Amino acid sequence: RIVMGIETSCDETGVGIVELADGQAPRLLADEVASSVEQHARFGGVVPEVASRAHLEAMEPMVRRACATAGVALGELDAIAVTAGPGLAGALLVGVAAAKAYSAALDVPLYGVNHLAGHVAVDTLEHGPLPRPCLSLLVSGGHTQLLRVDDVASGITELGSTVDDAAGEAYDKVARVLGLPYPGGPPIDKAARDGDPDAIAFPRGMTGPSDAAFDFSFSGLKTAVARWVEAAERRGETIPVGDVCASFQEAVADVLTAKAVSAAQRTGVHTLVISGGVAANSRLAALARQRCAEAGVELRVPRPRLCTDNGAMIAALGAHVVAAGGKPSGLDFSPDPALPVDTVTV
Ligand code: ATP
Ligand code: MG
Ligand code: FE
Repeated sequence: RIVMGIETSCDETGVGIVELADGQAPRLLADEVASSVEQHARFGGVVPEVASRAHLEAMEPMVRRACATAGVALGELDAIAVTAGPGLAGALLVGVAAAKAYSAALDVPLYGVNHLAGHVAVDTLEHGPLPRPCLSLLVSGGHTQLLRVDDVASGITELGSTVDDAAGEAYDKVARVLGLPYPGGPPIDKAARDGDPDAIAFPRGMTGPSDAAFDFSFSGLKTAVARWVEAAERRGETIPVGDVCASFQEAVADVLTAKAVSAAQRTGVHTLVISGGVAANSRLAALARQRCAEAGVELRVPRPRLCTDNGAMIAALGAHVVAAGGKPSGLDFSPDPALPVDTVTV
């Protein structure tokens, strides 16, 4: 069975195609992504109207290209999955409308699925079926959560989340303070390679003895970086961009990995999947590898291309839902910009 996934929750128009074989993880056949990121760069963040229009223009070409890459005709699709939320309302609407049209025209079932669960499910394309249960540290532009995943197609529970900024958001804001381009993750990751992670002692939020074990906070860190840079500028000093990036990145990776490993120990669940755009971060992956090895936790991190938004993650999740005999969503659902992570299908 062949499943196509459509993703339009933010600024990536993603169309992925996977093949489902019984008892196995889905196999990736195509993963086409068009991004409107350059159109947003000068605003330092995604402009919803611009993103929606870009999705509209990219949708049909991306579907066509994904089919060509997969060597699959539209008529050979057996099911369609689409991101139903969370995300930008107008952006989601374009993907959902397109998916409904393909579903009706091709007479195949449609599944509205959760973008965040898709970030977790994508790992199965690379590393095979997920152990049940497993934990996921979901770190993206809009979310930072620790999840217990009993079944990626139906059973996800939130253990904790950020009380303020998401990790990716902190990356994007720190990049802006340093005059680095948007989105901030990749340029900070790169600049940090030439910096000293111990140069500046930035705060580790929510790590005090009375803080909730599974929650996160990154706004204090973001502010600390901004204050440090302002103070250096006031003194007329050149900003040591590499050191600031490396020290900031170390603070983020330290908190994320410490909390994820401790969650594995507290829950007795010994597989950790790191997912979402920030999972593409090189230092996070390296520190997680080290700490998980020390703690006897099995670590899974999808390759960077699969960590950021794409259609393959939605196709993968759709395939898991189809394999589990999940009920199709029908054609009359609306996208939910605030869809909670425990609602895997709508
Ligand atoms: P959500 O999934 O919460 O709806 P989103 O879809 O916008 O948000 P993703 O595409 O999953 O987010 O991730 C984008 C975020 O990942 C951005 O904040 C970006 O800066 C960050 N990011 C991408 N690559 C890296 C990297 N190498 N290091 C750190 N952060 C990164
Ligand atoms: Mg994006
Ligand atoms: Fe995302």
